[in-house]
Amino acid sequence: MKRPIGEVQDGRRTTCRSCGGTRLHRFLDLGDMPRSDALLAPEAVDSERRFPLQVAFCTDCTLVQILYDVPPPELFGAEYRYFSSYADALLAHAKEHAEQLVAERRLGADHLVVEIASNDGYLLQHVSAAGVRVLGVDPAPAQADAAEARGIPTVREFFDDELAARIVDEHGRADVVIANNVMAHVPDPNRFVAGMRTLLQPDGIVTVENPSVVELVDRCAFDTIYHEHQSYYSCTSVDRLFTRNGLRLVDVEEFPQLHGGTLRWTGALGGTPSDAVTRHLDAEHDAGVDTAGYYDGFARAVASVCEDLRALLRDLRAQGRSVAAYGAAAKGTILLNAAGLGTDVLDFVVDRNPHKHGLVMPGVHLPVLPVTALAERRPDDLLILAWNFADEIIQQQQAYRRAGGRFIIPIPEPRIVT
Ligand code: ZN
Repeated sequence: MKRPIGEVQDGRRTTCRSCGGTRLHRFLDLGDMPRSDALLAPEAVDSERRFPLQVAFCTDCTLVQILYDVPPPELFGAEYRYFSSYADALLAHAKEHAEQLVAERRLGADHLVVEIASNDGYLLQHVSAAGVRVLGVDPAPAQADAAEARGIPTVREFFDDELAARIVDEHGRADVVIANNVMAHVPDPNRFVAGMRTLLQPDGIVTVENPSVVELVDRCAFDTIYHEHQSYYSCTSVDRLFTRNGLRLVDVEEFPQLHGGTLRWTGALGGTPSDAVTRHLDAEHDAGVDTAGYYDGFARAVASVCEDLRALLRDLRAQGRSVAAYGAAAKGTILLNAAGLGTDVLDFVVDRNPHKHGLVMPGVHLPVLPVTALAERRPDDLLILAWNFADEIIQQQQAYRRAGGRFIIPIPEPRIVT
């Protein structure tokens, strides 16, 4: 039985973060979760914090959202270690995006491009190189330092409508506002979108990229649901969010390979929506993306992945087989904890990042070892937590495979690869 969402219980959201409506349909409860990327020292496990991870669909505006907000400083403070410049595919995508904007919008020295969540300047550097005035916005200190070292002036604050007004006073209005992979992280999307609108020149555009909730559901990628991701957008929910804040959704592009399926939305103060916008909105409506039933189906698929995976690992353990896991990343934390896969069914997790060795996985507290542990300890089976890179990992682990090792790919349904 689902509890009614309208009752306030310690910090849990009772109204939609986008439209303010009260008809939130909770469809998924992943339990109390630690922060997904907070690997910890074995001696620190007693002080580990957990927060409820529950997901709801807004029956009024269709936005999918988590119901409990971990305060942003806990998530993106001085400890926030993600540098965009470490991901090759993302870098190439950003360069292409920057060059396309400069060419199509004919940007020059008289124009201003503002990027929200500019990170280390990985994108704006290419706009700046074309002689265009740029301004980054990013509260993470190490990333802002790195951007400024590249000559990208950076405002070190969280973006909202108030900051937008101050930026307009100091720097003027922007011809292009870019917000990639950030709108999922903002507690109040209205103030965020209203801020982008405030920043815009009358003929300017905003360009926003985010993984699509439709791809997440279709791929059963529930392990990308974590506290850092507060909202999960479809074209439908973005269209309504933009409209509510004075922007029109005029175009949408798809990037299927990026972050498991990314959409780029273009907003403007006026103009006519492109055919692509109409096509996407129609397709989402036909698939039921604007109905609660669509997400209930997803939740059933998640429950069966978790049950099947746990049953499989218990069975392997009963047969006397040893099982390890590959990939100590955020999604691994979610999968292990949601399915309840701890030290009773797994021995350890391996990862290529030396900074993670000697620590334990959040929640389940499995030790993280170097990849060489596979050759030394020879587990019979290897659960691939980074299942989106399964082909690549299996390729790299041919020696393990030749020695008789098998792989378990958990999603969309658990299967063994010999
Ligand atoms: Zn809503």
